[in-house]
Amino acid sequence: MARDSSFESLTFDNVWSRFPDDFFARVAPTARVDTQLLDVSPTGARALGLEADALGGETLTALLSGERLLPGMDPLAQKYTGHQFGTYNPALGDGRGLLLGEAITPNGPMDLHLKGAGQTPYSRFGDGRAVLRSSIREYLAGEAMAGLKIPTTLALAVAVNGEKVMRERVEPGATLLRLAQSHVRFGHFEWLYQQQRTEDLECLLRHVIDRHRPDLAQHEAPFESMFQDVVTRTAELIARWQAYGFVHAVMNTDNMSILGLTLDYGPYAFMDRFERDLTPNHTDATGRYAFDQQPGVALWNLSVLGQSLTPLIATERLREILDTYEPTLQSAYAILMRGRLGLETAQDDDGELIDSWLSLLETSRADFHRSFRALSDQDVAGGVSLTEEIPHADRDAWLDRYRERLASENRSDTERLAAMRRVNPLYVLRTHLAQQVIESAAEGDAGPLRTFRTLLASPFEARPGMEVWAEAPAASAPPVVLSCSS
Ligand code: AMP
Ligand code: MG
Repeated sequence: MARDSSFESLTFDNVWSRFPDDFFARVAPTARVDTQLLDVSPTGARALGLEADALGGETLTALLSGERLLPGMDPLAQKYTGHQFGTYNPALGDGRGLLLGEAITPNGPMDLHLKGAGQTPYSRFGDGRAVLRSSIREYLAGEAMAGLKIPTTLALAVAVNGEKVMRERVEPGATLLRLAQSHVRFGHFEWLYQQQRTEDLECLLRHVIDRHRPDLAQHEAPFESMFQDVVTRTAELIARWQAYGFVHAVMNTDNMSILGLTLDYGPYAFMDRFERDLTPNHTDATGRYAFDQQPGVALWNLSVLGQSLTPLIATERLREILDTYEPTLQSAYAILMRGRLGLETAQDDDGELIDSWLSLLETSRADFHRSFRALSDQDVAGGVSLTEEIPHADRDAWLDRYRERLASENRSDTERLAAMRRVNPLYVLRTHLAQQVIESAAEGDAGPLRTFRTLLASPFEARPGMEVWAEAPAASAPPVVLSCSS
C-alpha cells in the first residue's frame, strides 16, 4: 500500500504544553470569517516530508480559519520576554500567534504556529490579528531565504479572511501557518533568568539540547557546547544576511532564534541600491537596526543571552565563547563574498577587493543584486565593462583589479561564471515587487503571489518571460519606508 502522504497523516504533539504552567497560556484560536487559502508552499510541504499537492486545501483552510485542529494539537501562546530597542520588556509573549504543536516528521519535529490567531494574555494593546500585507511578506520571506540557503522559519500556507483590521488604515485580515524546527527565542531564557528560576532555566536548555543537538549531551560541558552552537549559528546567519543585503530591521532579543533561524519578519528589506545604513523600519529613528549595525547588534543580543545563562555557565567561559563570534562571522562572510565574486582561492587582499566593490556600488548608486548578477552573466574577464549596471568611472579601475585577481586563479571563465550564477540570485524579494503581489492578492488575484513564490524558491535559475521579476525599482521610486505595524 502506498504511504499516505497527506497532511492528516502526520502525527502531532505539543511538548511545550507539558512545561510548567506559566511557560504558556492555553488559548483556542479565534475563528475568522470567510477564510480563503491563497497559496500553499512546496518548500514548507517538503520541510514536513510531504508533497505540496498531497496537502488537502480543505484541511489547511480549516486550520487557517481557526475553526479546526488536528488530533494531538494543543494550541498555546508562549511566554517570553526580551530587550526591545535595548530596553528590557518583561511583558512579552505570543500576542497574536499560537503554537499549535509540532508535527513528527522524518526530518524531526517541526513546530506549527498559527499567526493571526487572536488575542492571548500577552497581547497587551494588540488585537491579535495579522494583516494580508505582512502575512504575504512573511510568507515570501521564508521562500526567499530558503532559496538563498539562509536559515529561516518557513510558512506552509497563507490565507486571507473577511475581517477588516485597523492599522495606519483598514486592511484585510489574514492568517499564516508558520513552520520552524523551534520557536525558542533568546527571550525565553531572559525571562527565566530575570525571575531567578535556575531550575527552569536548566530544564529549558536541556530541552533545546535534547531536541536539537542530542549529540552535545555526551560532551563534558553540554551547556557550554550549546551556547557555542548558538554563537556559531548566529554568526553564520548574520554573515549570510550581510552577504545578501538583507536587513531584519527589528533585531530585538525576542526575535532571535536559539537555532540561528531568521525569525519574525516585520519591516525587513532586501536592499535595492547598496546602502550601508539602510534602516527600512521608519520608527527606528536612530538606526539601531540599520544594515551595517546588524553584526554588532547580534553580538549584543548574544551577550544578553550569555548573561541569562550565568547561573549555568562560568562567566569566563561565556566570554571566551562570545569571543569566537567575530572571527566566525568574518570567515563565513569572506567565504560567501569570495563565492559571489567567483574567487576560488583565498588571498590576502580579498577583504580590500570586496570592500572596494561595495564602495563602488555605493558611490555609483548601482543596484546591489543586479551588479553581482552582471558580473556572473557577462564576460568581464574578456573585457566587458558593465557601463550600464555601474554608471561611474571608478568602475573601470576596479574591474582592472578584478581581472588581475581572476587571472591569478586556474579556473576557466566558463566554470567560474557557472559557479557564480549558482550563488548570485536573479530573483530577489524586493519591496516593490512584494507590494505588487500584495495589491493583486487584495484584489482577489493570487496568481502573481504564486509566480513570485516559485521564482524566489529557485532564485538563481533564469526563466524566460520572467524578466519583470528581476527588475530593480524605477530610479524615481520613493525610498523604502516600512512600518512596524503588522
Ligand atoms: P514583533 O516586533 O512583531 O516581534 O512583536 C513584538 C510583540 O508584540 C510580540 O510579543 C507580539 O506577539 C506582539 N504583537 C505584535 N503585533 C500584535 C498584535 N497585532 N496583537 C497582539 N500582539 C501583537
Ligand atoms: Mg516578535
